[in-house]
Amino acid sequence: MAKGLAVTMRHMLRKSETQQYPEVKPDLPPRSRGVIALVEENCTVCMLCARECPDWCIYIDSHKETLPAPEGGRPRARNMLDRFAIDFSLCMYCGICIEVCPFDALFWSPEFEYAEYDIRDLLHEKDRLGEWAATVPPPPPHEVSAEPPKEIAAASRPARGTARPAGRTGEAAPATEQTATEQTATEQTATEQTATEQAATEQAATEKAVTEKAPPRREPPRPMRDIRSIRPPGSLPKKKDGPEEDA
Ligand code: SF4
Ligand code: SF4
Repeated sequence: MAKGLAVTMRHMLRKSETQQYPEVKPDLPPRSRGVIALVEENCTVCMLCARECPDWCIYIDSHKETLPAPEGGRPRARNMLDRFAIDFSLCMYCGICIEVCPFDALFWSPEFEYAEYDIRDLLHEKDRLGEWAATVPPPPPHEVSAEPPKEIAAASRPARGTARPAGRTGEAAPATEQTATEQTATEQTATEQTATEQAATEQAATEKAVTEKAPPRREPPRPMRDIRSIRPPGSLPKKKDGPEEDA
């Protein structure tokens, strides 16, 4: 009993931690699963999210539009998004749709104040989902010692067989290390190209010499075959002509 009273006294003397919601907004962790936000411009109507959703609560409608062809090209068909809705009365906040979206069109937003009196009002269309995109927190900063993202590494790599012009107007001067790497890559590409060209020239010369020296090959004449001697599959061998010998 004394132990119980001690616990009560301890809690009575401790400072209260009650959050005065809605006057004071709760400080949620950045990865809170409040609601799903849509970046409509990124959606290509690939339907992956709707197909993978275990609750089938994503509704997508679209139509095809033909884009005018560039000069010398063919016209291209493109899916245009007409409707994108999520029924949050069915959604179980598993996050599969966000994980599978290959075009970064869906994000978690910590926004949670969208309760309704009628459950049917929890079906939200793309306009409302798009408004929530503004509340999506920025991604966490990259770790200092980690490797740079592969997208940045690929973008900073020079294209094959081209050298980036140094000191262009309006661009910041490249780092010394990066310049050295680019120069090495360019030299390597040039060496590879020269070696390839040399090998191709040598091969062409060898082929030409062989063609000039060697006489044209002639196929030996194929012997004529008596087609009457061919026995069709499954047939019995022909009887030999002449009198049969007695056993
Ligand atoms: S979070 Fe899960 S249940 Fe909700 S819409 Fe996405 S895939 Fe469907
Ligand atoms: S997976 Fe992404 S791009 Fe594909 S339909 Fe869904 S939101 Fe749009």
